[in-house]
Amino acid sequence: MPHEFSTTDVFGQMVLLGTGTSVGVPMIGCGCPVCRSDNPWNKRMRCSAVLGLPEGNLLIDTSPDVRAQLLREQIGIVHSVLYTHEHADHVFGLDDLRMMQFYLHGPVPLYCEPRVEDRIRRSFDYAFSTDAHTHPGAVPQLAFHRVGLEPFEILGAKVVPIRMKHGSRFEVLGFRFGNVAYCTDTNEISPESMEQLTGLDVLILDALRPRGHATHFSLEEAVEVARKLVPRQTYFTHMSHELEHEKTNASLPAGMALAYDGLRIDLT
Ligand SMILES: [Zn+2]
Ligand SMILES: [Zn+2]
Ligand SMILES: [Zn+2]
Repeated sequence: MPHEFSTTDVFGQMVLLGTGTSVGVPMIGCGCPVCRSDNPWNKRMRCSAVLGLPEGNLLIDTSPDVRAQLLREQIGIVHSVLYTHEHADHVFGLDDLRMMQFYLHGPVPLYCEPRVEDRIRRSFDYAFSTDAHTHPGAVPQLAFHRVGLEPFEILGAKVVPIRMKHGSRFEVLGFRFGNVAYCTDTNEISPESMEQLTGLDVLILDALRPRGHATHFSLEEAVEVARKLVPRQTYFTHMSHELEHEKTNASLPAGMALAYDGLRIDLT
């Protein structure tokens, strides 16, 4: 049967594919009210987003849920991938992009820092082996593009990388696209980086749970950051099962809310 290609147009939008912490919500084996909730807003896949840019779809991170996420949003093609950092919950779905090399007629461009490239080369070593493969599409074809702290262009849009801390010894990147910024997996943003996040329409920001954590903002800490930056709207992401969607939202200041899987944000 001939293959009929299908995708929806997400131009001008950021689609949040997943808004959950590394284990997802519900968490395996947990019987808490949030994990057992029927409310779809309490179901959170691992963190990822797609942006509809002038020259194609940009995927931020390849979560272990990426296949289900792209199918759910009916996004049939990813033209490039941009990585925040190399933790397992942001990388390990990469093999699921194997069909993209056919749709793109070439390798999938991966934009990342050297440490992320190193992790991908080791975790997906079979994709870089020089052995002959049994058939086309047997392994992902990938092409690395190095990212630093200088703004760069990707798929016809300008990206400003934002350096952030993710625990005391680890650094990640947030990204600003126009007046929308995506800042997950952080518990400290330097004054210099905060400066790069002023004047936003929408800020997407890490907020793990009510209690503090060694590598993520607590909800209260995240609210503090949002109060300083005063974007028009803040959405919190990378949430654990300790944050019930509606109850938590009712407690938040105006202009702040929990994100949810499938949330669409206009790029401005
Ligand atoms: Zn994470
Ligand atoms: Zn739970
Ligand atoms: Zn992380």
